[in-house]
Amino acid sequence: DRRPAPVSAQAPEPKRKAFDFAELPQIKQLQMQRAAADMMGIDNPFFRPHDGLAAGTTVIDGKVHDNFASYNYLGLNGHPDVAAAAKAAIETYGISVSASRIVAGERPLHRDLEDALARVHGVEASIVMVSGHATNVTTIGHLMNKGDLILTDSLVHNSIAEGARLSGATRINFPHDDLEALERLLAENRHKYDHVLIVVEGLYSMDGDFPDLKRLVHLKQAYDAWLMVDEAHSIGVLGATGHGIAEHFGIDPNEVELWMGTLSKTFSSCGGYIAGSRVLCDYLKTTAPGFVFSVGLAPALAAAAIASIQVMEREPERVARLQANGRHFLACARAARLDTGPSAGYSVVPVIVGESVGAAVLSNRLLSRGLNALPIIFPAVAEKAARLRFFITSEHTFEQIERAVALTAEELKQIRADGTAVDRLIK
Ligand code: PMP
Repeated sequence: DRRPAPVSAQAPEPKRKAFDFAELPQIKQLQMQRAAADMMGIDNPFFRPHDGLAAGTTVIDGKVHDNFASYNYLGLNGHPDVAAAAKAAIETYGISVSASRIVAGERPLHRDLEDALARVHGVEASIVMVSGHATNVTTIGHLMNKGDLILTDSLVHNSIAEGARLSGATRINFPHDDLEALERLLAENRHKYDHVLIVVEGLYSMDGDFPDLKRLVHLKQAYDAWLMVDEAHSIGVLGATGHGIAEHFGIDPNEVELWMGTLSKTFSSCGGYIAGSRVLCDYLKTTAPGFVFSVGLAPALAAAAIASIQVMEREPERVARLQANGRHFLACARAARLDTGPSAGYSVVPVIVGESVGAAVLSNRLLSRGLNALPIIFPAVAEKAARLRFFITSEHTFEQIERAVALTAEELKQIRADGTAVDRLIK
């Protein structure tokens, strides 16, 4: 008998079987959705394994596809210098630093990377953590408190929302990119809170547009607020040399209190960072739970990010190529009368389809024609705003872009001609 002994005579008899996760309503709902998709013959477009390096092309199921689903914006993942730097770091330090940096995990590469990131952003200092998501959660969660206010664009990333929730501060969303609404909120609320943090993205990952940083800086100065800009999709992308949204607008980077970024996109590694004043970074290094109580960044990942920054700075033509590709994609998509929402045509161009089923079907049909572009469906976006999202890189050719747009327009037209995807598939 392997049942645990009762803790006391009054304790209830142990149940034969623990509560089954499959009974949870949220799990049942997910299973029903999957079953409905199976009934309609829609393959699951998510979790598809890629068999090699994902750049302008990628191999799925043994077949080469044009790839518009990876954040490899400047094609640095797989660059020989980046791979060599990572290998050399493994030779020297092994894979893991085997401790939090605050105790035994600090390596010279961490400091080199933090210096390089501070230089990229044009500020005093930076701090790197093991994931971009964790960076937002722990930084916002730790810096802000009850009695503070966090004003977020309604389309900010989940990690920002989670950080705000953790902080205990009041969070108010303003409608996407509506800086007049933001100003009204500041005017109405500033005096009621100790500190106010405005959080925006340098380029929005769902819509591919970006905010007016000049105006945001005026607002944060006028209302004595802090400004945080998540540059996950704008570093390496905006500005003549890829130095991000501050370079694009010609703004002094020190006007933004918190620059946030991830190493997993342009910098072809894994991890996240905050760049800003030395006082802020030192404070986070000694107190932010996601840094203090977590392992230091793996040496190979730090080395890969440093090498990526060096290639980006040495070869600004990569940035120019990415920007030309983004413009070309947007121009072709508009000419084909695809709905690209407010995209500015840089690293992210959505093609808005409507219902989630239609987006999944479109993605699957495109895959069968050699094009990999993934759907974003409810609840990540509103049900009526389901879309395919195209990530543009410096590695795409104009031919690939023209083919991708033509195929998308053709398949979408077909799906629409057949009636709504749901009606047709149920028939
Ligand atoms: N911020 C934004 C805007 C993102 O899009 C992402 C990831 N897609 C993150 C933060 C999290 O970064 P990571 O994937 O490196 O954890």
